[in-house]
Amino acid sequence: MLDYTYDGWKSRAAALSFRGQAFIDGKFTDAASGKTFASVNPATGGVLAQVAECGGEDVDRAVAAGRRAFEDGRWSRLAPGDRKAVLLKLADLIRANLEEMALLDSLDMGKLVTDAVTVDAPGSAHFFQWHAEAIDKIYDEVAPTGPGDLALVSRVPLGVVGAVTPWNFPLDMATWKAAAALAAGNSVVLKPAEQSPLSALRLAELAAEAGVPDGVFNVVPGFGATAGKALGLHMDVDCLAFTGSTAIGKMFMQYSGQSNLKQVWPETGGKSPNLVFADCGDLEAAADMAAFGIFFNQGEVCSANSRLYVERSIQQEFVDKLIARAEATQPGDPLDPASKMGAIVDEKQTEGILRFVEAGKASANLVAGGERITVDGKGCFVQPTIFDDVSHVDPLARDEIFGPVLSVIPFDREEEAVAMANDSIYGLAASVWTDNLSRACRVADRLQVGTVSVNTVDALSAQTPFGGMKQSGFGRDLSLHSLEKYTALKTTWIKYKT
Ligand code: NAD
Ligand code: MN
Repeated sequence: MLDYTYDGWKSRAAALSFRGQAFIDGKFTDAASGKTFASVNPATGGVLAQVAECGGEDVDRAVAAGRRAFEDGRWSRLAPGDRKAVLLKLADLIRANLEEMALLDSLDMGKLVTDAVTVDAPGSAHFFQWHAEAIDKIYDEVAPTGPGDLALVSRVPLGVVGAVTPWNFPLDMATWKAAAALAAGNSVVLKPAEQSPLSALRLAELAAEAGVPDGVFNVVPGFGATAGKALGLHMDVDCLAFTGSTAIGKMFMQYSGQSNLKQVWPETGGKSPNLVFADCGDLEAAADMAAFGIFFNQGEVCSANSRLYVERSIQQEFVDKLIARAEATQPGDPLDPASKMGAIVDEKQTEGILRFVEAGKASANLVAGGERITVDGKGCFVQPTIFDDVSHVDPLARDEIFGPVLSVIPFDREEEAVAMANDSIYGLAASVWTDNLSRACRVADRLQVGTVSVNTVDALSAQTPFGGMKQSGFGRDLSLHSLEKYTALKTTWIKYKT
């Protein structure tokens, strides 16, 4: 029986060792400069490990290794079924090391280990498995030409895929990119966020153990402005898959234009609206999920339901329910199964959240939380926070805070709610709560977002594409559609004698 008690997690954490070197061409290696940076646990402020600080030279080495592997076909020209077998083994290895993978993310960026071991780590295994299983079941096309002409339209891997990922779901964001790109036959160079590089390094080690050949999956930890930029500007990277902020997503589009016109797939920020109508049949469920939608993962979720539009006739009743849930969601040690929320990723993010909260105290009605707290006298923790009667034009309602801060905005009419929901530079996700089927469909039709969840929040699966519209970017992860990012259409036209 696995010991998922507080003591069990603490002793597992104490026994953990960390890989801090870069993983290039099948080997752990120091940065060429010899430089390292500290990987910090935001729940304690303690240093977990020194991690290789990769720069341009290391990115060059990793891209060259990826290119060599791609050209000689050790992975790119395997039969899809053979790549499948290796990636299935990787999924098994993630499952065999589930507690370790969960702990790495929990310690590195503060999420609850209970969530990491039930959501993030199993999700990673599942997504590797799903893409592995898919890859030998996809057929290419024969174009409708005529006798004497055989036109084959096939999807071919691109070459070297650069992936630059954020810290909020470190293992899963690395997986969403790598699983699809590797299944399709590409080589990958992954630059994880500097706040949370540890799980990606362990993932690379497990991939090698599963049989992913040298050079096919490389991890170059380091900072965005150096390692990330070097990947973005690299002349021999064919595709750059990015998840992170809108500002940096725009920079990657520029890097591409300044270099080799590599494909760039940005998946960026959000300010997702949650529309709760008075004809919602189950207000308890709506309140549970509204709270989950903003407090899960400390609100550090790109699709977090951070704007709540509630019909005025139920505003007070609904806000009271939300306040009760906020009070029951207090942060604690991420390793303690009794904790309801973890730590914010680092000092900078914590300060940024608090700036929004402090400004909000003057412009809106603070009804829950609003304070930074410590746990055992340490760490970056913010109370679950709710502002009521927020003006639609207040920064609280417009800007991505990326923390556990909910803005409640009342509405009187359906059209008004839809118009406010759509009045955003973002378009990642939205939720609608109503028992009126026609209203649900009508509102879903009109919301300009990548995913609409009806009577739930954050609907997501391996089978459905995830991504946004407008300045939430246009990349799509998950589902077979994600393979479109990592492949090119190739026409092979054969003339034959009739
Ligand atoms: P970020 O944009 O600061 O960093 C993301 C990555 O980009 C990191 O690896 C970072 O090192 C790198 N980077 C930073 N500056 C760079 C530069 N100048 N050149 C090249 N690379 C650079 O974002 P973050 O704070 O790590 O993550 C939070 C953001 O990610 C939020 O905006 C959130 O909405 C977004 N996000 C989006 C999705 C999605 O699927 N749409 C999913 C998760 C997170
Ligand atoms: Mn960290």
